[in-house]
Amino acid sequence: MTPPTENDEPAGGPSRAFGFDTRSIHAGQRPEPYTGSRAVPIFQTTSYVFEDPDAAAAYFNLQEYGNTYSRIMNPTVAAFEERVASLEGGAGAVAFASGLAAQAAVLFTICQPGDHLVASSALYGGTVTQLKHVTRKLGVELTFVDPDEPTAWQAALRDETKVLYGETIGNPSGNILDIEAIARIARGHGVPLVVDNTFATPYLCRPLEWGADVVVHSATKFIGGHGTSIGGIAVDSGTFDWSNGKFPTVADPSPAYHGLAFHETFGVYGFLMKLRAETLRDLGAALSPFNAFLFLLGLETLPLRLERHVENALAVALFLQGRPGIARVAHPGLPDSPYRPLVEKYLPRGAGAVFSFDLAGGRAAGRRFIQALELWSHLANVGDAKSLVIHPASTTHRQLTDEELAAAGISPGTIRLSVGLENLDDLLWDLEQGLEAAAAGADEPAGEQPPACPLPLDPGVAQ
Ligand SMILES: *Cc1c(COP(=O)(O)O)cnc(C)c1O
Repeated sequence: MTPPTENDEPAGGPSRAFGFDTRSIHAGQRPEPYTGSRAVPIFQTTSYVFEDPDAAAAYFNLQEYGNTYSRIMNPTVAAFEERVASLEGGAGAVAFASGLAAQAAVLFTICQPGDHLVASSALYGGTVTQLKHVTRKLGVELTFVDPDEPTAWQAALRDETKVLYGETIGNPSGNILDIEAIARIARGHGVPLVVDNTFATPYLCRPLEWGADVVVHSATKFIGGHGTSIGGIAVDSGTFDWSNGKFPTVADPSPAYHGLAFHETFGVYGFLMKLRAETLRDLGAALSPFNAFLFLLGLETLPLRLERHVENALAVALFLQGRPGIARVAHPGLPDSPYRPLVEKYLPRGAGAVFSFDLAGGRAAGRRFIQALELWSHLANVGDAKSLVIHPASTTHRQLTDEELAAAGISPGTIRLSVGLENLDDLLWDLEQGLEAAAAGADEPAGEQPPACPLPLDPGVAQ
């Protein structure tokens, strides 16, 4: 069986290896042959008429690649999958209803009860919750390690370890993962490295080129780019050897697919086929065609947007650095950042547009700062064209004491920014208002804290 052919190369074909910007616009699509539609059509359909009973049987047996039902595949979603796979340099991709669904599906496909996974401790909050609670509930053990210490990753390995997991740009200190070093450790142990590349996007970094095996994204963020849609995607390199004896979940005959051995049957597409034809089929978190269409539109301007995002973000970080009332600016691209050498290696075009800084005045200063802003939107998201801000200590983490915040790597005055595409002068003008307000009020006496939230908010909704 071969992968789909109707969608795979832009017009002009493989006679030239197109550049990244060209592929952001064309990869995964040719004008649709029936109507000639230049834009990717939104195939808003649940199902597809079979040519004849034999064709239907071949699709369901995975002997032919064809559309059956949109929980498993859909032509609009396929164009999005192929475009992201092209941009990340992978063999293929499977899209999901959210970033969390994509990463859960990848881990669910790799692991089985009794397995162990090693993850960076500096991850998106929702991922930490997912790993700590959901993965454990499935009988998978977990060790969090300091992502900056390759020796810690090495030391955490066990016989049962089946996957290493990190983020290109982590939270909240802007940790940059030494992908090549961690990938080497994973290879040495015969297990894959999975990297969440949401904050970097393939425009800034392509983890597969540094030895990672699977890349996951929350497409909700920079890929969509306009704060309109939730979605996720997993890209596989196609180069990991799933038949090395450690991955019966991928290599052995599958009882959930009448004894099909995915790795042996589909080779480089084995993991992707398992991810789609079993995990996505059975867990059901499919991306809608309409969201795939919006993500395709987002990808067309990804290079242009990211250029402005990183330029504005670095300028904002430089503006904040050294200002009175600011204790720390954790932008990894700043000249004095401890991550500077890793930024130069992995993110030469810029270290992203999401970073945090600490107001010396603590919780009260943070609230005054947020209150005074007019242009920055106070909300729990990142990667929008609009500039976004959140103060974890008064929102997503407000039920935590200062000690508990510290354990999460957040100070009472930590502010997280996602720098958008507006005029830099306007962004700085608004931050100036916030800083003046933060400095103006008297700090609350120690011990006076906002009342505990009756329902603990999931810290996962903030980055
Ligand atoms: C938002 C985010 C996620 C989760 O993605 P959803 O689309 O919200 O499910 C995972 N990782 C990172 C780094 C994120 O920013």
